[in-house]
Amino acid sequence: MSQTGPKLRAELGDIPTYKPGRPAPVRDGMPAYKISSNENPFPPLPSVQTVIADAGSQANRYPDMFATALVARIASRFGVPESHVATGTGSVGVCQQIVQSTAGPGDEVVYAWRSFEAYPIIVQISGATAVRVPLTADERHDLDAMADALTDRTRLVFVCNPNNPTSTAVRRDELERFLDRVPIDVLVVLDEAYREFVRDPDVPDGLQLYRDRPNVCVLRTFSKAYGLAGLRVGFGVAHEPVADALRKTAVPFGVSGIAQAAAMASLDYEEELLDRVQVLVKERTRVATALTDQGWPLPHSEANFVWLRLGERTDMFASACENAGVVVRGFSGEGCRVSIGEAEANDIFLQVAAEFAPAG
Ligand SMILES: *Cc1c(COP(=O)(O)O)cnc(C)c1O
Repeated sequence: MSQTGPKLRAELGDIPTYKPGRPAPVRDGMPAYKISSNENPFPPLPSVQTVIADAGSQANRYPDMFATALVARIASRFGVPESHVATGTGSVGVCQQIVQSTAGPGDEVVYAWRSFEAYPIIVQISGATAVRVPLTADERHDLDAMADALTDRTRLVFVCNPNNPTSTAVRRDELERFLDRVPIDVLVVLDEAYREFVRDPDVPDGLQLYRDRPNVCVLRTFSKAYGLAGLRVGFGVAHEPVADALRKTAVPFGVSGIAQAAAMASLDYEEELLDRVQVLVKERTRVATALTDQGWPLPHSEANFVWLRLGERTDMFASACENAGVVVRGFSGEGCRVSIGEAEANDIFLQVAAEFAPAG
């Protein structure tokens, strides 16, 4: 066929499109809630909103390209050297920087599946080959199988902990055993977007594990626990050659001054924000208990969402939720991921779940 426009890279042809959580439908007389994107249902604290508004008065200026003040703040908060911290436009931005830094055509990137839907997109854009390792029957990373999947072409492995969308977390023993099996020249990314929601003491903190491992990079974000999803700021922590590469591959001035200021303010008011996280964790327990009582075989959630393996009933369930006034995230033929939101939203979801319960 003759060319009718600019030639685009072949890799883009069959790229899956990132499917954002649908916005809540507007309907009169009935509340509608969005519990489809793992967002924090609490708006930014008034104190943080003031910082955001103030930072807006500087919007005619470019931001600090390397987010120097924020990096210093993150380094002191988490007890890591400043040279180990690199920021990005959300941790999705940092994921992209990581793939660009490590993998291209001919290289392999290993990740569990199903996991975070940004991984396949970012890997495919890079031209590298994705190697997907199925989750275990109980919806967890199969770290042994992931280690078995490494070849001499592997450059990068993602471990999403807790895993989006199945909510399960890997434990310290199994993760350390896995890391011991990964060659030193393969980078392992511990994507800890939901770290603040973890309560199981056996789920390791990546920031402990990375210290004596130069091939481990930890990803954190201000989007979930800190409630700044709309401002796009996240960061990676890794030893110097890796952190340097993440700075080189960052979009110049990608993290806005408003986002930098808001992230710093979130660390200033962290205690108050983590109290809110605790409210959501309690709500998670309430929701999980109710679902278990309804007869659902629920994977144990360490995140701010739960996972229902609905199989063929997924689309039906998602529509029923929407008709009842809550939007959830369905993965057709597999299951629904439902964020822990406002109590009223969770109640509506639980009512629908009761109707679909396997035991009922
Ligand atoms: C939400 C999420 C992120 C980060 O999102 P950003 O808003 O880009 O920081 C990263 N990884 C996983 C697994 C997520 O679910």
